[in-house]
Amino acid sequence: MKVGKITRISGPLVMADNMEDASIQDICYVGNLGVVGEIIEMRGDVASIQVYEETSGLGPGEPVQTTGEALSVELAPGIVSQMFDGIQRPLDVFEKKTKSTFLSRGVKIPALDHEKKWHFHPQAAVGDEVVEGDILGNVQETKLVTHKIMVPIGISGRVKAIYDGEYTIDEVICVIETTHGDKELSMLQKWPVRRFRPVREKLNPDTPMSTGQRVIDTFFPVTKGGAAAVPGPFGAGKTIVQHQIAKWADVDLVVYVGCGERGNEMTDVMNEFPELLDPETGESLMKRTILIANTSNMPVSAREASIYTGITIAEYFRDMGYSVAIMADSTSRWAEALREMSGRLEEMPGDEGYPAYLGSRLAEYYERAGNVVTLGSENRQGSITAISAVSPSGGDMSEPVTQNTLRVVKVFWGLDSTLSQQRHFPAVDWLQSYSLYSDDVNEYLDQKLGVDWSGLVGESMRILQKESDLNEIVRLVGVDSLSEKDQFVLEIAKELREDYLQQNAFDDVDTFSSIDKQYQMLNTIISFYDEGINALDLGGYLSELLQGTSTLRDKIARMKNIPEENLQQISDIQTEIKETIRDILQKGDMAND
Ligand code: ADP
Ligand code: MG
Repeated sequence: MKVGKITRISGPLVMADNMEDASIQDICYVGNLGVVGEIIEMRGDVASIQVYEETSGLGPGEPVQTTGEALSVELAPGIVSQMFDGIQRPLDVFEKKTKSTFLSRGVKIPALDHEKKWHFHPQAAVGDEVVEGDILGNVQETKLVTHKIMVPIGISGRVKAIYDGEYTIDEVICVIETTHGDKELSMLQKWPVRRFRPVREKLNPDTPMSTGQRVIDTFFPVTKGGAAAVPGPFGAGKTIVQHQIAKWADVDLVVYVGCGERGNEMTDVMNEFPELLDPETGESLMKRTILIANTSNMPVSAREASIYTGITIAEYFRDMGYSVAIMADSTSRWAEALREMSGRLEEMPGDEGYPAYLGSRLAEYYERAGNVVTLGSENRQGSITAISAVSPSGGDMSEPVTQNTLRVVKVFWGLDSTLSQQRHFPAVDWLQSYSLYSDDVNEYLDQKLGVDWSGLVGESMRILQKESDLNEIVRLVGVDSLSEKDQFVLEIAKELREDYLQQNAFDDVDTFSSIDKQYQMLNTIISFYDEGINALDLGGYLSELLQGTSTLRDKIARMKNIPEENLQQISDIQTEIKETIRDILQKGDMAND
């Protein structure tokens, strides 16, 4: 095969000629160091190569060798709990091999451990007819994840042999007799990251993915297979929202892609996640998590790769029938990488210098999320929920990345800097945010909880909206111009904001609220509202109502700190509300007599 030669170097973009043997999307080894790059454009024999490592020191005339293979990931047991860089090099092995967290260039490390043995338990038997996606057997990869070994895409036939026992990911565990001869299969699959893994059918994503975050689950829910964006200015809480979801989402697997936001945040995740325990099993959350981090000395182009590496790994676990959540922090950094490469390629710039294909690239990414029937004959369902931070500069949401993202996602959690400055966290703006899954989720929860959940949610949102209208009036003519009922609405809205919407990610109890707890809390506030309005209708005075309920209202403010095992204490408050307000009314009646 011909060896190309570097002609020009422009940051992470390297041009090479004499490359007629190569094709677009091939992975190449570039320069004497052999750094990794991917061909993103071919013109005649000239390749434009996006290099995933630092290019300083490379010079014209140095060799470029294509591998003829597309950027791919290794998929096999050993992938869960790992931390990889954007091109799936394991960060811990890397550190040992290069004695630093700074990736040394040109170091070739396999993504997965090829020596370790795993116990493969066959599920298929000799003689079975199998098709692509069928499960051949299982490996207990971590306490939280059973890794299902599937028939690779493109293969079908009759199981000729299948071996129970301890094997490395390269050893043969099954032989399939196909129309093109016998195929020996190991546990390892490789998949090109830019090609989505096919599915049998896409389904409507209508089951909620609970996150334990009240403002999300109650007002702006996302579903298993749904897509959500969390745009917000610097410091508004995007990363914390993503961390919280990674910790608490009721999914089987989490893929967390840190692409180019502050570097130390990934270190936080790496240090913090192993300590966090899964509430159901008590196991470390890392046992269901895969981290992909771009270390700070990798060029921007690696952000591109990390997004695709992440989503491909997510698809692989979805194919096993799992619910997967993929977090990307932040897609704006990815878009900036696209912009930079496009600029260096001297492409015609679109809006704000981003390439014209920005919208389609984003759409293609979110298209890979979804609730699906996977390949395979057993009608298996799996899902990928995609949740992405967007960091519009200056918080200006009219910029292209935010706008193109909002065109394709169905949930918008808009973070507001005024709220974060007031330390109202999560700083999700309840008047701007939306979820197009709300109807489906409300219906689901009405059924599941056997209560009027949707009524409660609707009522709460009306109160919050009313507050915003009333605030206008208050600004113009003062609070005294409001009726007592409207003043009471303001009181309830304040409780909704402070005692319900605000949730402290760093408090051991408040960090997570089950949907049962959310129901009890919201029901308490709305009971107080209903009883209060009723009392005012019956002629009670607001001042008496507020005085008589001050201890109660303190209790309402502390509901968030009641642990999950004591939810009865919250419903007790509801009883107390009824009794207290009845007493207030009776006293008032006596005074009037
Ligand atoms: P961004 O990623 O948008 O720049 P971060 O997620 O890093 O912002 O959040 C900035 C800071 O805001 C955090 O360090 C934390 O102090 C505070 N914060 C954000 N969300 C919460 C929350 N839910 N509870 C408590 N503090 C929060
Ligand atoms: Mg951040």
